[in-house]
Amino acid sequence: MNQALKKRSLEVLWNPCSQMQDYENNIPLIPIKKAKGVWLHDFEGNKYLDAVSSWWVNIFGHCNNDISNKIKEQLDNLEHVILAGFTHEPIVKLSEELIKITPKNLDKCFYADNGSSAIEVALKMSYHYWLNIGKPNKNKFITFSNSYHGETLGALAISDVDLYKKTYRPLLMEVITAPSPDLFFKPYDQSVEEYCEIKISELEEILEKNHKQVSAIIIEPLVQCAGGMRMHDPYFLKLLRKACDKYQVHLIADEIAVGFGRTGTLFACEQANISPDFMCLSKGLTGGYLPLSVCLTSNNIYNAFYDEYKNLTAFLHSHSYTGNPLACAAALATIDIFNNKNIIEENQIKSKLLSESIKDLYDHKNVIDIRQKGMILAIELGEDKVSKTPFDWKKRYGIKIYNYALTKNVLMRPLGNIIYFMPPYIINEEEIKLLGNTAIEAIHACI
Ligand SMILES: *Cc1c(COP(=O)(O)O)cnc(C)c1O
Repeated sequence: MNQALKKRSLEVLWNPCSQMQDYENNIPLIPIKKAKGVWLHDFEGNKYLDAVSSWWVNIFGHCNNDISNKIKEQLDNLEHVILAGFTHEPIVKLSEELIKITPKNLDKCFYADNGSSAIEVALKMSYHYWLNIGKPNKNKFITFSNSYHGETLGALAISDVDLYKKTYRPLLMEVITAPSPDLFFKPYDQSVEEYCEIKISELEEILEKNHKQVSAIIIEPLVQCAGGMRMHDPYFLKLLRKACDKYQVHLIADEIAVGFGRTGTLFACEQANISPDFMCLSKGLTGGYLPLSVCLTSNNIYNAFYDEYKNLTAFLHSHSYTGNPLACAAALATIDIFNNKNIIEENQIKSKLLSESIKDLYDHKNVIDIRQKGMILAIELGEDKVSKTPFDWKKRYGIKIYNYALTKNVLMRPLGNIIYFMPPYIINEEEIKLLGNTAIEAIHACI
């Protein structure tokens, strides 16, 4: 069945983020029959530990009974309804919950159905706010180097990962790119505080020159995930919030990947005790069940759109499946789990186990950096530890490690030469050990 389904799949399906030719010889295409907890099962009795939470969405395991049951209940009542002119209980309740658990000053929820779309909403709302209050020139965005905010044209424009962006550059709006506060580049003899302050002064130079044209600054708080799990200090976020206030530009927090407990707090912004003007959430929002995203913002922003219809200040953005009740039910069930269990506390123990599981790698000559925030642990590989010289990407060590790990029943999908663990929070101690041992073995076997 594995082979037969693979063959049928390759006839008709164009997989995401794939050079399809790789599936001939370089990378297996694995048909999955079912999944439970952290385990994916194929048709031939093989299983794979989902160490990447199926692209970072699955936080409480596959086929989680609590979430599945809530969706099944919802299915018999209301599957979907147009959200213009109508509302429904799951979305009202979800909005109430989100406003309760996110940082203060986030008072209104606007929904879309994937992360990139939530980013588009934030960009349009930010610009439109300034337009509505009589500042039409504030129409530029500032992003950080190596950032990632999605693949639709607006989201891609404010991203900075060349692999995804370069090809489409002629199609993209121009943005201003500020140097990222990535700690990977911090000189050894500099303190974290000093480094953050230098990075903020570089940003302030840009703001000083451009703030009259700048609508918003967008950041992935604490971890640039698609950019290779690169991390910065919460202190930078504090300084960033201050700079945004000083220069009157919005702060958009893209917590699509880091939200819902991934970095050790429910939201990454909490670690800096800041509130953004917009917060985008998706991925873990539905526990990895159904596509849903939300852009939260303040009453202050909302009120700039609130007027008589004839003044044409309304936000006329929409998606067909906005606020889908089944997705809302999954999100409510996910938030219920956070409310009823000590997930954040238990994750502290698990994140320690994660780092212990790979402690033998610290001395490996090709391990140039090991970094961690909460339930994200990354191992960066390269030619040389001291100079942090990267491997030539053409060697594709990441793919070799990926293939090796699959033979050991682990799905570990590196980002280039960065191996990372971003497992569902329900992973147990034994499974964490398997992850660690597999990473160690794979690195020794493949490099
Ligand atoms: C995944 C991701 C997105 C895009 O979300 P999609 O649902 O894939 O469109 C945006 N920002 C960040 C930080 C992400 O990790």
